[in-house]
Amino acid sequence: MEESPKGEKRCAAIVLAAGQGKRMQSQIPKQYLLIGDKPVIYYALKTFQDSFIQEIILVTAKDDMEYCRKNVVEKYNFSKVSNIVAGGKERYHSVYEGIKAVNCDYIFIHDGARPFVTVEMLERAYICVAQYDACVIGMPAKDTVKIADSKGFAASTPNRDAVWTIQTPQVFSYELIRKAYSLLIRKEQELLEKSIKITDDAMVVETFLGQQVKLIEGNYSNIKITTPEDLQIAGVLLQEDGK
Ligand code: C5P
Repeated sequence: MEESPKGEKRCAAIVLAAGQGKRMQSQIPKQYLLIGDKPVIYYALKTFQDSFIQEIILVTAKDDMEYCRKNVVEKYNFSKVSNIVAGGKERYHSVYEGIKAVNCDYIFIHDGARPFVTVEMLERAYICVAQYDACVIGMPAKDTVKIADSKGFAASTPNRDAVWTIQTPQVFSYELIRKAYSLLIRKEQELLEKSIKITDDAMVVETFLGQQVKLIEGNYSNIKITTPEDLQIAGVLLQEDGK
């Protein structure tokens, strides 16, 4: 790996695109639907390609690897994509496959379904990970959040001033995240038995290593394309962005 223009640290990204996107109710996986005239996955890859990140690992479904190589990586000349690897059943399986496929100092884990990540966010995360070893992009919650009980009643209301909604990229020292994910995979059965769901990467280092994770403000535009209306919102954001 070449030296990073940001210093001597080697930075790599894992871009996740192995989800089925069932909530999109579309035959085509959401990462290949179009925003403007390009697939959703193009935009995040373009940001990483144009940044100080040296290497990108793209994680796709096994059956989409060739399609992605030809129609995304080669078509748009994403020269920093050094490897396309097959993901797994859950998001955390896909992340683990990505982690095993790279070696670096800092790793930027990003949902391919978030097209509006910016180079500026990556730069802020770089400064933060160098200080704290673990940080995630997110935003203070705009809505009040309620914790529901099993019958669908409000059980409690956390103080909104302390609630953040978490986005990606989530950025870690490589050795830290590799260790945390190895423990997760080893203890997966225990978690399944306790019905604990792993929904982001920060949770893995918090749970298995007791590591503190610093929160960094990203942008309310850094949405994840999940349901059909998100695609409409993304169309509007794209026009504003002029991407
Ligand atoms: O399903 P969700 O919207 O939370 O997925 C977030 C990101 O993780 C998406 O970019 C999706 O493609 C990816 N993912 C994955 N492997 C899975 C599930 C999700 O790479 N098994």
